[in-house]
Amino acid sequence: MRVSEIVPVLMNAFDPLLTFLSLLAAVYGVTLALYFLYGLAITWLNRRNPERRIQTGRRGDKRMWAEIGQSTISILVTSTSVSLGLFSQHMGWAPTPWQLTWWNALPLFFLCMVISDLWFYGAHRLLHTKLFYGHHAFHHRSVAPTAWSHDSMTVVDTALSQAHHTLMVFIVPFPPLIILANRAYDQINGTFGHAGFEYFASPGARFPSPMLCAFFHDQHHSEFRYNYGNYFSFWDRVFGTIAPDYDRRVKAMEGLHRPLRLSAGNGPASGGRVNSPPPKA
Ligand SMILES: [Zn+2]
Ligand SMILES: [Zn+2]
Repeated sequence: MRVSEIVPVLMNAFDPLLTFLSLLAAVYGVTLALYFLYGLAITWLNRRNPERRIQTGRRGDKRMWAEIGQSTISILVTSTSVSLGLFSQHMGWAPTPWQLTWWNALPLFFLCMVISDLWFYGAHRLLHTKLFYGHHAFHHRSVAPTAWSHDSMTVVDTALSQAHHTLMVFIVPFPPLIILANRAYDQINGTFGHAGFEYFASPGARFPSPMLCAFFHDQHHSEFRYNYGNYFSFWDRVFGTIAPDYDRRVKAMEGLHRPLRLSAGNGPASGGRVNSPPPKA
C-alpha cells in the first residue's frame, strides 16, 4: 500500500476519535467553567446571607482546596459520560434522537430529570453498601458541604452515579440539547444543594410536594443515613429512606429568614437560623 493510500485510511480511523475528543474537551471546558461560576456566585450570595447557614456549628470551608482539586478530576469523568452519550447518538449506536420542538421540550426535560434522579438514587444507595462505600467515603469527608463539594468525588463514585448520561440515550432518544440542559441544571442544583445555606425552604420543598431544598442533601451529609435522591424526594419517600424529621424541619425553617440580601450591608444578621432546634411534633 502506498503512502497516498494509507493517509485517507488513517484519517478515517482517527476522525471519530478526534470528534469524540473535541466533544469531550468542549463539555469538560464548559462544565469546569460552570463549576467555578456557580461556586463563586453562590459563595458571594452566602457571604451576604450568613443567617441562612444550615450547620451553624461547623465550617466546611477548610476542605475547599481539596474539594476543588478532586472536582477537576471528577468533572472529567462526568464530562466523559455526557460525551459518550452524545457520541453514541452521533455515531448511530443509539436510536436517532427525537426532534426538539417547543411542545416537547418541557415534557422531555422533566422525563430526563425523572430518569436521572432514579439512576442517581439507585447508584447512591449502592455506594452506601459495604462493598462500594470505600469509593464514596471521600465525598462524605465534607460533613458540612460547601459550594465546592458537589463534584468532590472519586473516579469510581462519579462513574457510577453519573453513568446515566451515557446509558439513557439507549432507552429514550433524548435530543442532545435536553441532555446538555439536564447536565447544566444538575450542576447548579448540586452546587446549591451542597452550599450549606438554605434559600428554598417553603411548602413546595416538603410533603406532599416531591421537590426539595438545600437542607435535604445537607442532611444526607450531616446525618448520613437518609435522603439519597438528587432532584426529588420522591424515591426516598417510596423506599422509606427520607429522614423522619425532614418535612418538620423544613417547615420550621420557613419564615425564619429576613428577605434575601444581595448587598454586603453593615448590620448584624437579624433572622433566625435554619438549624434552630426542630419544634416538638
Ligand atoms: Zn452519600
Ligand atoms: Zn453530596
